[in-house]
Amino acid sequence: MREPKQKSRLRLWECQCPRPTKIRAASDTLQVICLSCGSMFTRARRDAEYREIAHRPSRSQTVRSEAMDLLEAVLGALRNHEAVE
Ligand SMILES: [Zn+2]
Repeated sequence: MREPKQKSRLRLWECQCPRPTKIRAASDTLQVICLSCGSMFTRARRDAEYREIAHRPSRSQTVRSEAMDLLEAVLGALRNHEAVE
């Protein structure tokens, strides 16, 4: 008896270690940080289901500060916008 091919819902994620830790999770928006390299897990390109817009390759620790800078820039722009109106 042939069973229908079941598509796995698990996504493959990996961190930025020299030998990346790979994990599978049923999530498209995993927010997990590796305690060894301090970088967030990103979708493994080898993952057959990888079809998200390719993000810039994360350079470990700088990513978070960049995100904060961006957030502050956006908040600042919003404040200025409100002030203008
Ligand atoms: Zn790591």
